[in-house]
Amino acid sequence: MSDIEKCKRCGCDWYHPCEGGCYWVDDELCSSCATEDELKMYEEIKQAHIDYFSSAIGLDRKNESKLNENISVSKLAHNKGE
Ligand SMILES: [Zn+2]
Ligand SMILES: [Zn+2]
Repeated sequence: MSDIEKCKRCGCDWYHPCEGGCYWVDDELCSSCATEDELKMYEEIKQAHIDYFSSAIGLDRKNESKLNENISVSKLAHNKGE
């Protein structure tokens, strides 16, 4: 109970997301509060992680969709959003 993540700007948490929904871009920052610069920055970090994991499991990015047909590993990679 003591450890619920809360957005440091709007105070939303897992149980009370912002209207329209939001996700964590950082430990204490949700997507609706992040500036465009911040979103971009965290998006890059996230992408770097995805690239790392992709190569860690031997997933070539261009084979991603093909792989998705067989295995459902790539939720993460798939989830990069638009
Ligand atoms: Zn917020
Ligand atoms: Zn929020």
